[in-house]
Amino acid sequence: MKIAVCVRRTPSTETKIGIGGDGRSIDPSGVSYILNPYDEFAIEEAVRTKEAHGGEVVAITVDGADASKDIKKALAMGVDTAIRIDPPADADSAAIAGALAEALRDVGPDIVFCGKMAVDEQDFQVPLRVATMLEMPAVTFVTKFEVNDGTARATAETELGQTVYESPLPVLVAVEKGINEPRKTGIKDIMAAKKKPLDERAAPAIAAKVAVTKLELPPEKQGGKIVGEGVDAVPELLRLLREEAKAL
Ligand SMILES: Cc1cc2nc3c(=O)[nH]c(=O)nc-3n(C[C@H](O)[C@H](O)[C@H](O)COP(=O)(O)OP(=O)(O)OC[C@H]3O[C@@H](n4cnc5c(N)ncnc54)[C@H](O)[C@@H]3O)c2cc1C
Repeated sequence: MKIAVCVRRTPSTETKIGIGGDGRSIDPSGVSYILNPYDEFAIEEAVRTKEAHGGEVVAITVDGADASKDIKKALAMGVDTAIRIDPPADADSAAIAGALAEALRDVGPDIVFCGKMAVDEQDFQVPLRVATMLEMPAVTFVTKFEVNDGTARATAETELGQTVYESPLPVLVAVEKGINEPRKTGIKDIMAAKKKPLDERAAPAIAAKVAVTKLELPPEKQGGKIVGEGVDAVPELLRLLREEAKAL
């Protein structure tokens, strides 16, 4: 079985984000990155599917050369090969999805795993755009996945409960938190990852249609307010939550 997983890095939650001089991108200096947490679930599911059915897993990222070290984490988790594609000059969701779709056409996967979203930009667009470009069925928010006799069965969580879908292969699956517990990697896995193939490709000529014109940080959080101590403070706390914060 050929399995692909689309992964991207994202600034670590411990990194202090600043706005770059152009006012429309983040200042990359001092930013440390981690793999997008939803993509770790996608990698784990891809590797588990390979372990159950045989085959190989390829991880694909559209990002600059710095991201090569981040995609090695996917290789350490059990992915077999990786492709890094330089991003198109202006990389909106359609351009990113276009670059991924182009590479995926070469791979010819039976299953494409994605995260449900990237935690920084939270666009939710890439997986469905890729599936549309590849004319593949897609299931999103997946918390349980299995393949039997060439049919994929995916369970999606919604606020109303669970929906169970069946789809022929090939299929794109965007995974939700809780689908699995991503494996920990050790020195041996990291060393093994260094020997696995990483194919680095030039940016495809795909033009973006949506441009970022301005980026602003959220307003500084206001300091906390101490309304009293012990149970005596509860009525005032409730009043403030109701009347000021409008949280009740
Ligand atoms: C290197 C780079 C340059 C960018 N430059 C611009 C720019 O010039 N103008 C602009 O408007 N925006 C730019 N962006 C932001 C970009 O448009 C968003 O990242 C994109 O719209 C996707 O949104 P998202 O990251 O929220 O992904 P979502 O759609 O929320 O991601 C869902 C899933 O799709 C997959 N995925 C998403 N992005 C990638 C990727 N890059 N590679 C592999 N898989 C992926 C992952 O599985 C992810 O979990 C850039 C992003 C990157 C990574």
